[in-house]
Amino acid sequence: MAKPEINANQTRLLFVDDEPAIVNMLSVLLSDGDYQIAIALSGEEALEYLQENTVDVLVTDVYMDGMNGFELMKAACELDRHLQVIIITGHDCYDMISQALRHGAYDYLSKPLDDHEIILNSIHRAGSAARLERDNTGLLEQLSASHAMLANANNRLRELNDDLMVQATTDGLTGLYNRRHLDNALEQEVNRRNRYPDPLSVVMLDIDRFKSFNDHYGHEGGDAALQLLSSVLSASSRNIDVIGRFGGEEFMIILPKCTPENSIKFAERLRRAIETTPVKIGDNMARLTASIGITGVEKDDRGVTAQQLMSAADKALYVAKADGRNRVRQCLEFDSVDSNDSEANDRLTGT
Ligand code: GH3
Ligand code: MG
Ligand code: MG
Repeated sequence: MAKPEINANQTRLLFVDDEPAIVNMLSVLLSDGDYQIAIALSGEEALEYLQENTVDVLVTDVYMDGMNGFELMKAACELDRHLQVIIITGHDCYDMISQALRHGAYDYLSKPLDDHEIILNSIHRAGSAARLERDNTGLLEQLSASHAMLANANNRLRELNDDLMVQATTDGLTGLYNRRHLDNALEQEVNRRNRYPDPLSVVMLDIDRFKSFNDHYGHEGGDAALQLLSSVLSASSRNIDVIGRFGGEEFMIILPKCTPENSIKFAERLRRAIETTPVKIGDNMARLTASIGITGVEKDDRGVTAQQLMSAADKALYVAKADGRNRVRQCLEFDSVDSNDSEANDRLTGT
């Protein structure tokens, strides 16, 4: 069988009939440039062609020696699900027509094939249907490839967002939380305990005479000390504690569910751990101390704000410095939210 020349815009037709006159007539009828035509004189010959070539519309007789039209249709559609089949039947052979359509034929043509308009119309529509289905499948494949790309991009974006979130809340030198996160965390903790009463304590810690430490061991030595101190803070705290670098050589620890009394024990342990942990800088073993200010509220002390807690912890830290450094001081008195609101003040101080 001669292979037709390939042109991507043409609809590819295969005519199959054991009567050469019929396939020749169809070839002549469809011989304008829109179609690429192949013919076969048996089902077997047609199937061989279909195994090697893509066809849009298969027009086949039903009764042929060997493989009949229905068998060919079935085998052809298994090879290519987009192929459209037009069955040629005897004149008004209704049983066969309905059988053909039931088996998935696109259309039928009745012999004698003398109404050329009907033939042209049917083949034209079948060709459009086949090409549309192919395009559709191509688009669906593209769509699912785009979906996969989009899903990948989404995952990457989520990872980047997570990284960004970590960066936005983490101090670069120590890996502890940064000031921004501490502010948010304290605000959240205060809000939470207003709904579900719990004690809460806050610790402010400042390294003693760190300027001299830097002057003596250099800025890198100072950085190493800040990192070591951070690991001492992490090791001394519970999982629920929020530890962060408040700025410079100052640190803050939020102690949810910790009473003011227990926070003194915690802070004293921490002070001692810092004092007794040597900082190795080159060949030197340096020592650090820190002053610690704490504040806190009992379970039923309601209405205290984050700002008040921070300010009280700061005052306690100031006293710890003033009293000689390397010590723990506690302040349980809070500035009033509004200095004229003495009732609120009394409530906060528990007086
Ligand atoms: P005090 O006991 O009163 O707290 O004295 P101090 O010297 O610790 O306090 P001061 O506020 O005078 O000095 C803080 C020093 O901390 C000065 C600054 O160079 C140092 N510092 C702040 N941030 C960093 C840092 O990221 N790395 C290093 N190496 N030093 C820092
Ligand atoms: Mg200091
Ligand atoms: Mg300081």
